[in-house]
Amino acid sequence: MVNQTSFRNPSDSLYNLPMDAVPTMQYLPYRGRLAPSPTGLLHLGHARTFWTAYQRALAQQGTLVLRNEDLDPQRSKDSYATAMIEDLRWLGIGWQEGPDVGGPFAPYEQSRRRDLYLQTWRKLRDGGFIYPCRCSRKDLAMSSVAPNDTDDEPLYPGKCRTRAAEASDYETPRGLNWRFRVPDGEMIAFDDLHQGKQRFVAGRDFGDFVIWRRDDVPAYQSAVVADDSAMQVTEVVRGVDLLKSTARQLLLIRALGLPVPSYFHCDLVRDEAGLRLAKRHDALSLRSLRERGCTPQEVLDMCSSG
Ligand SMILES: [Zn+2]
Repeated sequence: MVNQTSFRNPSDSLYNLPMDAVPTMQYLPYRGRLAPSPTGLLHLGHARTFWTAYQRALAQQGTLVLRNEDLDPQRSKDSYATAMIEDLRWLGIGWQEGPDVGGPFAPYEQSRRRDLYLQTWRKLRDGGFIYPCRCSRKDLAMSSVAPNDTDDEPLYPGKCRTRAAEASDYETPRGLNWRFRVPDGEMIAFDDLHQGKQRFVAGRDFGDFVIWRRDDVPAYQSAVVADDSAMQVTEVVRGVDLLKSTARQLLLIRALGLPVPSYFHCDLVRDEAGLRLAKRHDALSLRSLRERGCTPQEVLDMCSSG
């Protein structure tokens, strides 16, 4: 597999130049992924994203991977994992690798991939990219700057950056939040295949983000980067609410020296009031639409016109 990045700045001049992340995997056989979290029932928004991912993989005669993102032990439920697989199949989506069918990159449940995430943590620690953060929830609430969009995490003011030198004292990440130190002021740019050119400024649009949680759970950003790379995913299809996460993940990809996938961020499906769908919209879950007699085609029509 190709193992190079085409970020313009090599690691010795990290943080000095604007980063324009160019995909490095576009000539490899297409590998896409569906990455639902079993923390609720899938709804119309998921249907749109996953249907798009399925269609793109089909069009390229590629491989589609189903990855169960069940990292959060408090919120993940086996019953939701079973439901999401049934609902995706009912909709007509097929995949070649996944928890239910196996494959060369098994296991396909994040809860069983902890060793990989620990390796990732170690690489980031050894590279000097992360630091332990001892701020309490209360400290953070008092000092953080709330982001403009409500879905995003608050900007961390960098109080614990002074602890960077301590990082090498730790053999495990356990018991602390670990944050990635972002290059303040650097612009992260990438071409989204659906939303067009994207630009985010580190330290302004997002701050030092958590890559390992105090409750000893790897954080979303680092787990996704580790898995997409290990599973040789060439194109990431997901919701537009994750654009800013892509900027964060590109920084992780560069720090880890991994290849850069292409990105396609789907539009969100909104309800009649214009609000984005969330797990609370149970009436628009695939399950309840199906129970009310909707066919898969009717569901797909609803989410493409939404
Ligand atoms: Zn802190």
